[in-house]
Amino acid sequence: MPVVIDEKYAPAYLDKMIMDKGDLVILTKGNIKNYVNKELQMIAPFGCAHHDGICERCAGYGKGRLISYLPLGIHIGIFSAMQIIKRVTQKVLSAKHLIATKSMMYELSGTVLNYMTRHLDKIYFNDKMAKEIDQLSIKIPTDALGPLVDLGFKDVVPTPETFSKISYWYLMKNNDIIDVIQMEQESFTPFIAEPLLNFMHEHYGDLVMDDEGVIVSLKGFDPKKEIFQYTIINSDMISYTSKVASFMGSDIAEYTDLVRVMQDFSSLVFTKSPEVPYFYMEMIVRDFLITSKDDYTIPTVTDPQHVQFDKLSGIISNSTVCQKLAFENLHEYLSLPSTAIQVRPAGLYSPFFGIV
Ligand SMILES: [Zn+2]
Repeated sequence: MPVVIDEKYAPAYLDKMIMDKGDLVILTKGNIKNYVNKELQMIAPFGCAHHDGICERCAGYGKGRLISYLPLGIHIGIFSAMQIIKRVTQKVLSAKHLIATKSMMYELSGTVLNYMTRHLDKIYFNDKMAKEIDQLSIKIPTDALGPLVDLGFKDVVPTPETFSKISYWYLMKNNDIIDVIQMEQESFTPFIAEPLLNFMHEHYGDLVMDDEGVIVSLKGFDPKKEIFQYTIINSDMISYTSKVASFMGSDIAEYTDLVRVMQDFSSLVFTKSPEVPYFYMEMIVRDFLITSKDDYTIPTVTDPQHVQFDKLSGIISNSTVCQKLAFENLHEYLSLPSTAIQVRPAGLYSPFFGIV
């Protein structure tokens, strides 16, 4: 695949392989400066014959080195997406960046203010409460927990935000409830932060659980660690998200040139996170390739200038049988004449539908 490496983003291409006068060359910190700002031929994963993953050679990392970018057997598309999202989010949420952009923060008010303090996106007990931490408990009422989301991904560890949003809780001291703490405010619902979740996990036997909820004794909890966390709403993040959404959600379906898509998608990602390995972006783009409108199998690309993409909604609902079933009315799908002739492999969620 033809690629031009912009000098600014050179680290994103480290370890990838290029062809130089017929020889395979691995890009390293030492040699990459010889290859920036000129057209190169890079080994890309689009020509791989595997449709359910990727081999080391096509990934463009020599033997034994892909493992440093990907754990073996991982769901590669979801993993790549998370690697990109993680880096972009870290950048957008860095303190320096937050000062320079317009951000909506969670403001402590009401009962929370009496006990807690906030730093950036983390919420801690204040100094007074920290001193008494061994006598404190948190009672989490069952009806205060938000709905569970995104727990179905295999091989992907859900983030605390997806299952521990909490609208209110009871503060207990020496086994007596001393206050009700309202957490939900305007557009924010904080969630239980990782240190407390880990603490609950380590002291699972000490949790008191009944129909009304869970009581977590904080005896032994490090009060310097955050109890809750929330997601900062940032104007820059919102505009960036909408750019990515329009690229993946509609624009990409119009492209027929793989080289152009990689240029446009990587420059979009690089604006927020210059060090994301280029390979992860290749893997995301590969997920949007289709063989034809009747066959959503990821193709083995032989001519990068003539390819076909579909937008996110099409990819989600058409790539596999189970996704089709999950997103559309089963009865309508089965009654379509084309159902019997369209090629659709089993997918990640197939076992849930009894398809193996
Ligand atoms: Zn391959």
